[in-house]
Amino acid sequence: MNVLRNHLPTADLQRLDAAHHMHPFSDGDELNAKGARVITSAKGVMLTDSDGAEMLDGMAGLWCCNMGHGRREMADAAHAQMLQLSYYNTFFQTSHPPVIALSEKLAELAPEGMNHVFYASGGSEANDTNIRLVRHYWAAKGKPGKKVIIARKNGYHGSTMGGASLGGMSAMHAQGGLPIPDIAHIDQPYWWGEGGDMTPEEFGLARARQLEEKIAELGEDRIAAFIAEPVQGAGGVIVPPETYWPEIQRICDAHEILLIVDEVITGFGRTGTMFASEGMGIRPDIITVAKGLSSGYAPIGGSILSDEVAETINAGGDFNHGYTYSGHPVSCAVALENLRLMVEEKVVETVAADTGPYLAEQWGTLADHPLVGQVEIKGMMAGLVMTPDKASRAAFSTPAGYVGLKCREHCFAGGLVMRHVGDRMIISPPLVITRSEIDLLITRARAALDATLVDVQ
Ligand code: PLP
Repeated sequence: MNVLRNHLPTADLQRLDAAHHMHPFSDGDELNAKGARVITSAKGVMLTDSDGAEMLDGMAGLWCCNMGHGRREMADAAHAQMLQLSYYNTFFQTSHPPVIALSEKLAELAPEGMNHVFYASGGSEANDTNIRLVRHYWAAKGKPGKKVIIARKNGYHGSTMGGASLGGMSAMHAQGGLPIPDIAHIDQPYWWGEGGDMTPEEFGLARARQLEEKIAELGEDRIAAFIAEPVQGAGGVIVPPETYWPEIQRICDAHEILLIVDEVITGFGRTGTMFASEGMGIRPDIITVAKGLSSGYAPIGGSILSDEVAETINAGGDFNHGYTYSGHPVSCAVALENLRLMVEEKVVETVAADTGPYLAEQWGTLADHPLVGQVEIKGMMAGLVMTPDKASRAAFSTPAGYVGLKCREHCFAGGLVMRHVGDRMIISPPLVITRSEIDLLITRARAALDATLVDVQ
């Protein structure tokens, strides 16, 4: 136990953290000056920090702890698998029972005709796989010129060179010479921020048609695929207008391009169906998965492929690609146990019929708050936008994110983890959250909004 430093007081943990730990997506100097928030344990939807303070985990960790924290069954599955076979690879025509069983399970749960899985350690790696995979697919079909992948501004597909290039985060592109060649971006379907005088329906169509315009501009013979999240997550929980996805699907069908649906967040029940694609009428050729696949208990991601894509890749000779941890036996065993619990406990059904609608109703009550311009929700992921003037959908005069950061700090102080993206506040709680825990979340969110209102007045 000692070796894990669990016994140290917060100040010592923070000092050691500042001395040796480089944090993702953090301003190091600023963080080290104030000290990291140290989380020491978690159970269900509640986190405990090194000072003993409890917080409701409104983000399910990083959108991943769908089954909640601290499930003994998952620990037991990892323990048993480590003793049985702690590691073996899946390269060079080898396999093992956990990866076989998980692939069978995913084929059963995935949309019809999607029966093949290529594994990675997380979502970024899986999207890197997708870049290589779709290019190899077209080469195998005798069309090596089809290389370009069209993605969206303010989309998020991970942090590797490939993932960050597919993503449309300008702050990420500004560092490290991104995007890599042959990635193109179109605008996002964010009506509140960019819809102008159009109705959401008109705007959804207009933004989807940018895909067709981009295909015409670059030439269909150069386009390999389009990639998008069904509902943008890291971009701020942006639920597209109803008209958007049917039009995207029509365009993908009309032109010879693959559709990659990045369900790293939306997969495994987050939107009230096992995959958002099913609930939103999307027919993917490839689905990216990670996060909820293991509820964050072990790192794992992957690409679920349609039969046609898999058959083409299989017929194309060696696919010279793979990761040491592709199909890691412990991660596979943990993911299988996670899916077993999710199915047996009818978690997705409960989100669809009970807790999802209840969260929607309660989250909707925040719309009357003077700071809140619009609330959006899809299943168990929700966003709200703060504005000084609801009617004109105005932004604050302070730099984007200033008010959001204040609100996030008030959330932490009040015992709630809620994230901000600019001046939007977002949640994505564990899917196992109960009605009474939803009540607590809403009470704390409203208190944080009230405190923020005092700051901005
Ligand atoms: N794709 C989406 C939609 C994501 O939200 C994320 C992470 O948040 C990723 C990909 C990257 O996944 P990972 O962080 O596991 O590499």
